[in-house]
Formats: sequence, C-alpha cells, structure tokens
Amino acid sequence: MPYDKNNIFAKIIRGEIPCKKIFENDYVLSFHDISPQKKIHALVIPKGEYIDLDDFNKKASDKEIIEFHKAVSHVSNLLKASEKGYRVLSNIGSDGGQEVPHLHFHIFAGEKIGKMVI
Ligand code: AMP
Repeated sequence: MPYDKNNIFAKIIRGEIPCKKIFENDYVLSFHDISPQKKIHALVIPKGEYIDLDDFNKKASDKEIIEFHKAVSHVSNLLKASEKGYRVLSNIGSDGGQEVPHLHFHIFAGEKIGKMVI
C-alpha cells in the first residue's frame, strides 16, 4: 500500500490543517489528540512519509529513527507525564486499529491509564 499524501496528519505537517502543537523540530511534530481518551493524550509523528512503525523501521534513516524516539521522551517531559508515568502506544494496520495511515505514537498520561488492552 503506498503512502497516502492526503491523510490528515500529512495535511497537519503541511500546515493545511491546524493542530494544538506541543513540539516540533526538523524531524518530528507533536500535538494534542483532537479527541483525547485520557487527561493527557498527545501524538508524536515523524515528518517523513511513513505509514506505520514497520514502514518507518524499514525505510527511515537512523537519524530519523533516533529523533523520533527521543521526541517521545522529550514530549512526555514537556507534558510532565514522566513524573507519574505514562503509556506509549502505536496502532499498526487494520487489526491494530490504525485509523490514520501516517506513523504516530500516542502518549497517554495525567491519570491511571488502566488496562493495557480492552
Ligand atoms: P489511530 O487510531 O491510532 O490511527 O489514531 C488516530 C488518532 O488521531 C485518533 O486518536 C484521533 O482522535 C486522532 N486525530 C484524528 N484527526 C486529528 C486531528 N485533526 N488532530 C489531532 N488528532 C487527530
């Protein structure tokens, strides 16, 4: 499946759709989820065109992979999520429940996150 340049996160990266930005650098963008499922619900996405984690790990440069993973911790720190803990989650493909076909990590925090899988 080719990358869909019209997915909603691609539009956010291009600035065609607004987002509540938390952090941005050359490699990564982070913003609040539009429909938060916990008190804190942030998303971290790479700026490159990657469908999911498998696609990213196959095609991204080492620098992109390092920057993406570092950004998850950086954003968690900015949100003070690291203090009491948080959950990072990435849905992959249809069985994984992925709705937006651009790699994203969810960060849930600010309260007890609960069961790992519902
Ligand atoms: P997933 O099911 O893992 O693909 O998650 C997609 C997430 O993107 C959901 O939690 C949505 O609420 C979120 N989302 C969809 N559109 C937007 C948007 N325009 N801004 C922020 N988050 C969004």
